[in-house]
Amino acid sequence: MQGLAPVLLDVLGCPHCKGALRGSESPSLRLHCTQCRLSWPVEDGVPRLTPDQEMAKRPAPQG
Ligand SMILES: [Zn+2]
Repeated sequence: MQGLAPVLLDVLGCPHCKGALRGSESPSLRLHCTQCRLSWPVEDGVPRLTPDQEMAKRPAPQG
């Protein structure tokens, strides 16, 4: 499986905390921030690190 090049993950950082990003291929290829646990989709090998695409791993607690 091709996946993302490690060098790409080195260059990219989380737009929020500049934390390291990890690739995950299930259920589809996504990047996850190891710090704030947001994730973004990867389309055709291009990470979509935009606010409207980001998804929190868990819903934020109310209050
Ligand atoms: Zn982050």
